Amino acid sequence: MKKRYILDGLDCANCAEKIRSEAEKHKLITTATMNFVKQELIVEADDKVSSADILKTVCEIVKKHEPDVNVFEKGNKPQNKTGYKGEIIKIISSALLFITAFTLEHTLADSSVISTAVIILYILSYLICGIAVAVTAFKGIINKSFFNENTLMLIASIGAIILDEYEEAAAVMLFYTVGELFQSIAVNKSRKSISSLIETKPETAELLTDSGYITVAPEEVEIGSIIRVKPGEKVPLDGIIESGSTSVDTSALTGESLPRDVGEGDEISAGSINISGLITIRTTRRFEDSTVCKMLELVESAVEKKTKTENFISVFAKYYTPIVVLAAVVISLIPPLFTGFDFATWVQRGLIFLVISCPCALVISVPLGYFAGIGKASSKGILVKGSNYLEAIAKTKVVLFDKTGTLTKGRFEVTSIDPVGMSKEELLKYAAYAESSSNHPIAVSVRNAYGEAIDESQISGCSEIAGKGIKAVISGVAVLCGNRKLMAENNIDCPDVNGTVLYIALDGKFAGSIEIADTPKEHSAEAVKMLKNSGVKVVMLTGDNNSAAQKTAKELGINDVFSGLLPEDKSEITLREKSKISDKGKVMFVGDGINDAPVIASADIGVAMGGAGADSAIETADCVLMYDDPMQLADAFTISKKTNRIVKQNIVFALGVKLIVQVLGVLGIASMWAAVFADVGVSIIAIFNSLRLMRK
Ligand code: ADP
Ligand code: MG
Repeated sequence: MKKRYILDGLDCANCAEKIRSEAEKHKLITTATMNFVKQELIVEADDKVSSADILKTVCEIVKKHEPDVNVFEKGNKPQNKTGYKGEIIKIISSALLFITAFTLEHTLADSSVISTAVIILYILSYLICGIAVAVTAFKGIINKSFFNENTLMLIASIGAIILDEYEEAAAVMLFYTVGELFQSIAVNKSRKSISSLIETKPETAELLTDSGYITVAPEEVEIGSIIRVKPGEKVPLDGIIESGSTSVDTSALTGESLPRDVGEGDEISAGSINISGLITIRTTRRFEDSTVCKMLELVESAVEKKTKTENFISVFAKYYTPIVVLAAVVISLIPPLFTGFDFATWVQRGLIFLVISCPCALVISVPLGYFAGIGKASSKGILVKGSNYLEAIAKTKVVLFDKTGTLTKGRFEVTSIDPVGMSKEELLKYAAYAESSSNHPIAVSVRNAYGEAIDESQISGCSEIAGKGIKAVISGVAVLCGNRKLMAENNIDCPDVNGTVLYIALDGKFAGSIEIADTPKEHSAEAVKMLKNSGVKVVMLTGDNNSAAQKTAKELGINDVFSGLLPEDKSEITLREKSKISDKGKVMFVGDGINDAPVIASADIGVAMGGAGADSAIETADCVLMYDDPMQLADAFTISKKTNRIVKQNIVFALGVKLIVQVLGVLGIASMWAAVFADVGVSIIAIFNSLRLMRK
């Protein structure tokens, strides 16, 4: 049994991971996956377990770590937007009380009435923010999670009150609450930018039934159904247009800003927007198999793959917090034994130390940094499937490019047809029939050049040999259609022609060749130049022959070219490059997935073209370029570098400030105010620093 729960209000990536791992350890639950972007926990349990029990278990686990989060089963309750109104009112009222008390304290002459009023105001201000923190802390303690930020803050502030430092106690709580609010806002902002992509997800479909059109969820539509899409609406499912014609905006899927005209018989993809006419579509895929849906799942699960830095920080926090508490106790108790039992001073220093040492800034800002980076990348049409890959992109030392469909458009034009003993039309027809079931760019182009319908009944025994071509029987004639390798393998003599050439043999005899030409993509040369300028080695790998490969390489300024490769040769070269560079450097392979999906898998960072690419490639890739544009790599590099830099800054800054203030605190130089800055101030600065990634 699989259950999906919405954890409404979940903002802390670190707690999300704690919840997930604890759920998975629970005896009722077999697996648990957390989708932080969707605030969704998916658990699997034995069918014998009742749903009520699972819900109860999940609630218990969630409440333990995040008492403010509401849990409900997906679909049971509309997901209300998490608002900040309550928090803001709380902060403003607490702040007003605080300011009033502070002004009274520092302007009016001492009188016992005034000082009592001041204390009451500080305590009220303290309670407004502090009660929620106390509740969370107690729940944590009940559930044996003693050391979290809430407990640290509670101990420190209660200690301050005992020492008659009401101002400091109120300040600690107020600023801590402000910090938490900023964290919430920051996480939601990044989440929104990731889900701006998700907005391309269609919500409803108009399905044709016996009683006319009805509105249903796209998930419910079976393959082969007829749906209707009105102008202005989003196409909910992949399919073929049955009737009507229109222009569609596919920019959300392909980045192509110009609308595309489509009519009867044309394919149309879910997520594109119908601009002008009413159309009906016969669906060809279930909703969950549509490209949009797959893409979205990829991004949504991206956050689960952790970088080493993130893992380090969560382990660090686990040991760090108890150590800090212990240190605070030691500071409070040991020195007074030697310095004349001045406990008040040393307890205060211990408390200050406690506040300073709260690990929030690190625990929040490191995952948030990567989260924001992934968000930024997806807003540019780059899907990075995990923060570990985002971190690795900047370390790339070698980029291996596939040629056809990656650096070139993959839309070949037939430039000449040279038949032997038959008409040009006949030769092209054999080629088109042989290529009828291949999805290789060459095949698509040959079929387009032929332009007529293909009578499938004439084709029997058709098979594709990766990196070589096609073997088929057409109307009883054995047809070979492919490159020189295919001909050589079958002992067929053929002339050597320069460029990308399709050789055709009928019944074991050479029957002619078709020359085709492909052009580089608009930004390929620029992308190659950018990579080379930043010190990356650029290599082109292709299954095409040497003359065609050299021509493209020259146009693009690539010096290292390997041609005539079979898919396994490409993998081998990738592995060789990997073994040549040091551990820290990474090898990236960029391909369209046609004849190179295994290579994408064997590179450190496999990049696939999302638009033209094969589904299998998009699945195995670590990073998908949705707009099929090599220049997107430039963006990916920039975002990766920037993310790594910001995360590093945050770690150094947070640890540095804390260390300095800790020392000052122990020496009695830093006040509680400095401690509050070292904690909340540093968190907020780190959060804002992370959010710089999201800026345009
Ligand atoms: P690239 O590495 O440039 O993307 P591929 O590995 O996909 O190229 O293909 C290598 C070569 O194999 C092509 O240039 C072509 O000569 C031949 N080939 C592969 N598939 C086919 C096909 N379906 N029809 C004809 N030739 C093919
Ligand atoms: Mg290719």
